[in-house]
Amino acid sequence: MLLTGLLMGGLLLAPPAHGQQAPLIESAETVPATDQWLSPGDRLQVRLVSQSGARVTFLNGQPLLELDPTLTQGKRGIYQATYVVQPGDTLHDRPIRFQFVTPDSVIATAQSKSLVRFLNPNEPQLALTRGDLAYLNYGLGEDRLGGAKLGYLDSLVMLHLTGRVGKQYRVQLSQTQTAWVPQEVVRLLPPGGFAPTSLTGSWSVQGDSLVDYVRVPLTARLPYRSQLLTEPSRLVVDIYGATSNTNWITQRDGLQELGDVTYEQLEPDVFRMVLHLRHRQSWGYHISYRGNTLEIRVKRPPQKLRLRGLVVAVDAGHGGTNVGATGASGAREKDLTLAIALQLRQELQRAGAQVLMTRETDATVDNGDRVRQLRRLNPDVLVSIHVNSSGSATVRGTSTYYRYVAFRPLSVALYEQMRETGLPGFGNVGSFNFGLNGPTEYPNALVETAFVSNPEDEKLLTSPEFQQRMARAMRTGLEQFLKHSRAKGPRGWLLGQSAR
Ligand SMILES: [Zn+2]
Repeated sequence: MLLTGLLMGGLLLAPPAHGQQAPLIESAETVPATDQWLSPGDRLQVRLVSQSGARVTFLNGQPLLELDPTLTQGKRGIYQATYVVQPGDTLHDRPIRFQFVTPDSVIATAQSKSLVRFLNPNEPQLALTRGDLAYLNYGLGEDRLGGAKLGYLDSLVMLHLTGRVGKQYRVQLSQTQTAWVPQEVVRLLPPGGFAPTSLTGSWSVQGDSLVDYVRVPLTARLPYRSQLLTEPSRLVVDIYGATSNTNWITQRDGLQELGDVTYEQLEPDVFRMVLHLRHRQSWGYHISYRGNTLEIRVKRPPQKLRLRGLVVAVDAGHGGTNVGATGASGAREKDLTLAIALQLRQELQRAGAQVLMTRETDATVDNGDRVRQLRRLNPDVLVSIHVNSSGSATVRGTSTYYRYVAFRPLSVALYEQMRETGLPGFGNVGSFNFGLNGPTEYPNALVETAFVSNPEDEKLLTSPEFQQRMARAMRTGLEQFLKHSRAKGPRGWLLGQSAR
């Protein structure tokens, strides 16, 4: 349906010039249709839908082109334009105005609902991360699990913002790399600061009674990212805006997990640290700042690789007002996960493990709070229990999920054992962007026990005997993971088993 400009929120229709019929305007927006900050070189895209054959301009007389019907499935009257922001352009959170013109007058105007700002690169927009769960995203994805996370950052890390789309800012990490940060985890700084850079000082590499750590003195809290790689086991940390001035790396006594530590200057402003680990299985790490010194704490394997004495966190998914999925016969995910988690706690305690529960009643606990609590309690390992659901009632089976490949062996071991219960395998899924798989501080895995949306699976999920069987399977899975951690040699055998 066509609406006149007057009826559309955000559209303004000027009175028609004498003798001219005002055009009908269906929509006039930026693409994407959300508030934006743009830097020189960025593209401002606009789209307007009106009658065919009009002459429309925006900004300072830039024309919009009416798209050929072959590009619009036959629809006429769709106009688009791209404007590349130039140095010196200014626009301060304004709507984009469109003019309908004839050779001698403007007959109508319209404006976007979204507001646009052109940033001045001579006044870098800086921001500091805030809170204990600040993170960067790779891009602007907005699926169910949020944008794909690049990693967590400590608080008070200084970021150089060069753009904004809706509720995310674009971060200039280095000359060639960008990321995105959600509005709610940063605080904007007033103008006048320099884009953050630093030379690196000489490292200190040391072990105390609990962990190994590397400290790199910087003059500002720069953003960083990290990746735990396997075969060989190593931790790679990139610091953005950092340039090497490291004259030596002091490797002191007491190291148990760190082997060789090296660096390279990947780009003029990207400093890469490579920390080789001595064990095949990493038990996690934590990156934070002490003042402006970047500190990487690398965990050692537990003293004894057995359940007795191990600190195992067990997470019962959902709870309270967050019911989760529901089955055809009424089984609720939050009840099933709690029942299985309580069984697992009993199994683990019987084996001598110390169990930390994210909830032990029907309580509402936010996933962010679970992550905060777990990072503080610092378990050796985490198992998160959920129940799967599908739009198709025929889909069934068990599956496990990991975010970081170094923690995959845990999820594979759990998967193997869950299949031993007789449940069909639905799969072992990696790079999973789920909040509780996000922490790097301990190996973690998500177990989607079975599908509550499948009648057969639902029956098993609600059976106390089968719940116990699944709990036992997870305990055995943890034991297998510990066994795998003890073993030497390549770790292919785990994958071989899962391909059975
Ligand atoms: Zn769930």
